[in-house]
Amino acid sequence: MSRELPVRNPRTGQDDYRIPALGAPELAALAHGLRARQVAWAAAGAAHRSAVLQQWAGRLLADPAAVRDALAADTGRQRLAANEIRSLGGMVAGNVALAAQLLAERPERASVTPGIGIRHQLLPYGLVGVISPWNFPFLLSMLDTIPALLAGCAVLVKPSEVTPRFVAPLMAGIAEFPELAGVLAFVTGDGATGAALIDQVDAVCFTGSVATGRKVGEACARRFIPSFLELGGKDPAIVLASADPDRAASITLRGAVQATGQACQSIERVYVDARIEQPFIERLVARAQAVELNYPDIRRGQIGPLIFAKQADIIAAQLADAVGKGARMLTGGRIEHHGGGCWLRPTVVVGVNHGMALMTEETFGPVIPVMTYRTVDEAVTMANDSQYGLSAAVIGDEAEAVAVAARLNVGAVSINDGGLTTEVFDAEKNPFNLSGLGASRMGASGLLRFLRSKAVMIQHGTAKDLGAFDEALG
Ligand code: NAD
Repeated sequence: MSRELPVRNPRTGQDDYRIPALGAPELAALAHGLRARQVAWAAAGAAHRSAVLQQWAGRLLADPAAVRDALAADTGRQRLAANEIRSLGGMVAGNVALAAQLLAERPERASVTPGIGIRHQLLPYGLVGVISPWNFPFLLSMLDTIPALLAGCAVLVKPSEVTPRFVAPLMAGIAEFPELAGVLAFVTGDGATGAALIDQVDAVCFTGSVATGRKVGEACARRFIPSFLELGGKDPAIVLASADPDRAASITLRGAVQATGQACQSIERVYVDARIEQPFIERLVARAQAVELNYPDIRRGQIGPLIFAKQADIIAAQLADAVGKGARMLTGGRIEHHGGGCWLRPTVVVGVNHGMALMTEETFGPVIPVMTYRTVDEAVTMANDSQYGLSAAVIGDEAEAVAVAARLNVGAVSINDGGLTTEVFDAEKNPFNLSGLGASRMGASGLLRFLRSKAVMIQHGTAKDLGAFDEALG
């Protein structure tokens, strides 16, 4: 018997939905079936798998209403729910193109070892597990699932228990494509279900917090299976003296508060050159004050509720700590309660330093702490002073910004923009430091990480006999 979990609605604060939390026996039965059908899926070839995925994605994109509305209920926001689904188009197209190129059969080639020919084969893992977070429930479930399926794997996905409403309509749509339904299953449940899933699969893609990522990485290591971990961040933005203050303010605000700041690649701390500090902050404050909540009308405003109620407590505690240590909030700063949901307006904070959790721990809210620097060396040192290393932004003269980007200890840098990793799926990047582990989920490696290399080595000459190793040969 699986347990049942209540699910909170982020706009009303009410538990208005329930999910079963699958246990180990149900997962084992599911995994058994998925593995059995994966054999034919892998044998069918990349072109066939591509066609099946394109048909399913085409259907969902043409009629997204059921999944989109469930996602909107999960996240309390409408436009980003539609955008999450829309992103499937590019994700499938990009990976289909990669699969055609990377999975083509390779002819035998001559080894540098005389007389030997090498045939190189790529073999998919049988069953890949995907464990995803609540901030972009659909997108972050699909980002690993699509390349894994195209590689020839079966996939078992466990999205977050905080945002599981989209699973039922999504699975109903997948069921209309029996071949796909045979190798792709979404299950609901909490951390215990996620932990049990790890015991059933051959590789794990995990997106979530550092604390859980550590547990997942350890569990996978014990089983000698690979884990691809995409974890938290504390992304810096450096605003150079050459930047246009208003443009820099616009980029910073959008990069920091889009999705209510509930994005791993959100700008979470800003370093601005002292020479443009004043106009930059003035414009940032003006732009922040103009942002509206999408409450009471979900069809208006730019930012939604905080999806996960406990996140509001983390944000409030970080702000209180910073203010207690001398920081000043120029906008926002107070968790607002409307209709049962928790909201925070864009919060610009000055007078901050690296002795405050606000500058070192992930905030995951629409908070923009700003520090001033005098030299670019100082800015680079402060940006690199972090346990994380997910991504960063540099704003200003392009050549200068590119040179600064080269000095940043992070896996991805947006120049004159913020959070470009959410739009650019073909740029390879690794999460640095505590932001994660494992091959890039973007670009060619995003697909290749689901394949193991097998070398078939053919002796075209004469194999050595033991005489070749006779000690008497000297
Ligand atoms: P979380 O770590 O609390 O949960 C993530 C998932 O792990 C959920 O599905 C949860 O049920 C599951 N889980 C919990 N305990 C588990 C266990 N012991 N074994 C297996 N699975 C378990 O993260 P969250 O709060 O849902 O998401 C927010 C975090 O995700 C933030 O830190 C954010 O930065 C990060 N994130 C990272 C990226 C990225 O690409 N690097 C993208 C989005 C979000």
